[in-house]
Amino acid sequence: MPVYDYACSCGVRFETMVRSWSSPAPGCPSCGEITSRRPPAPAMHGRAAPPPAMSTAPRSWEGLHNGDRDAITGWRRRMDARQEFEARHPEHREHRDAIAAHEGSFERRPLTYKELATRASTSKDAATAAAEASRDRRTPNTATADAGD
Ligand SMILES: [Zn+2]
Repeated sequence: MPVYDYACSCGVRFETMVRSWSSPAPGCPSCGEITSRRPPAPAMHGRAAPPPAMSTAPRSWEGLHNGDRDAITGWRRRMDARQEFEARHPEHREHRDAIAAHEGSFERRPLTYKELATRASTSKDAATAAAEASRDRRTPNTATADAGD
């Protein structure tokens, strides 16, 4: 039975054995959501493996050997390599900054959920940002207060 790579929108990635290519994607072991199969690794043109995913970078001082400069520099370099890799292979890009709005005044610079959360926690509330996003829509039918997409 083949082994495939799966990813969940919560950031979890795992490998599992399935009956065949057409088998349904398994649920996420962490949150139970439906996962999606990752595309097979692209040809690396002389490289052994793609650079590690952003989500594999340590998020603790322990993981970074208590802030060891070489460890930090090493990860920084790996993340730069990963960014380059993802730019060349967009299908391997990780789900990071989900886009909350990309219309109206946000057409050129999409508003991410991260940013939206920041706005929500500062002076303006999130509804203001959402309203800005839906204001300049071209189709009058969708120009309602509760943007449905
Ligand atoms: Zn999940």
